[in-house]
Amino acid sequence: MTCTVTLSKGAVTLSAAEGSFPIVTPSEVEGSFPCTVTPSEVEGSFPCTVTPSAVEGSFPCTVTLSEVEGSFPGQRGSPMGVDLHLHSNASDGHYSPAELVHLAAKSGLTIIALTDHDSTEGITRAMEAARTISTIKVIPGVEIGTDVPHGEVHLLGYFIDYRSEELNRKLAKLRESRLTRATRMIAKLYNLGVDIEWKRVQELAGSGSVGRPHIAQAMLEKGYIASFKEAFDRYIGREGPAYVEREKMSPEEAVALVLEAGGLPVLAHPGTAPELTDLLGRLKKAGLLGLEAYYAKSPAPEITRLIQLARNFGLIVTGGSDFHGINADFEVPLGETPIPRECASDLIALAQKLGRPNNE
Ligand SMILES: [Zn+2]
Ligand SMILES: [Zn+2]
Repeated sequence: MTCTVTLSKGAVTLSAAEGSFPIVTPSEVEGSFPCTVTPSEVEGSFPCTVTPSAVEGSFPCTVTLSEVEGSFPGQRGSPMGVDLHLHSNASDGHYSPAELVHLAAKSGLTIIALTDHDSTEGITRAMEAARTISTIKVIPGVEIGTDVPHGEVHLLGYFIDYRSEELNRKLAKLRESRLTRATRMIAKLYNLGVDIEWKRVQELAGSGSVGRPHIAQAMLEKGYIASFKEAFDRYIGREGPAYVEREKMSPEEAVALVLEAGGLPVLAHPGTAPELTDLLGRLKKAGLLGLEAYYAKSPAPEITRLIQLARNFGLIVTGGSDFHGINADFEVPLGETPIPRECASDLIALAQKLGRPNNE
């Protein structure tokens, strides 16, 4: 098995690695730097520390894990696993909140956060399910979509008061604007000779919020396009003739919304955000508290870069898979995204320090 290791002075991040590595002796290092990797944690040991024998400065290297001693908890993730970014069918995920919690527990996860798009509707059911399983804890969360000229800026809110009427009213308004937008896009498509049914699009979205992927799926089913990419490139992408902008929420407004609901705002998958350093400066001022540095299949150098950015801005580091349970070809299976346990413990500690309600 190969995995990518990024060495910086005194620190190493392993990605795409499975299980735990009590002692790893890399046999091949680009740039021929012999080094020994000593994980700092027993299980799910990411990140770990490295003791390079002759390494100064920071550089990316590739390591072939040919000699691995010790046990592997298996392909299904660490029994100490955490995952702070999951979707249920309360938004656009496949599994119901209860199914998701059961599946997560079976996959070895012990602390998870349910972060549906613009919705807290699945949280009560997820927490009820978690109460019947002794090994798993659910942190209430939400992921708020914001509108920026380029790229995607999504805001995660943890430990929000998910029963807050004010929060749920605002989230409902956001979802509503998505619905209106979808019907308007379908009308535009019709004028372009693409005849898909609103009813079918709603069916595809299930109980979750309707989005462009569901429109693309309906187009695909009727043979108007050959791939999702084509739907976005030719029709419903930002530059496409059937694209409709939805009601805007700025990233700063999303941070404020999370704070008002007693939550901890964290920037999701920063890799999709444009002009990240600028954005972080603005969001930090607005009250941002964390950065999702560990994300799905992010390569190790990217994780290292984001951890450094988080440090520079005084933000905690979180991590999540963004699991939807929709597309096995693209998604990392539940429990297999290497996320350090500190991501959860730091988040919980910060929530306690700030006196946020636990909402359990
Ligand atoms: Zn997102
Ligand atoms: Zn997400």
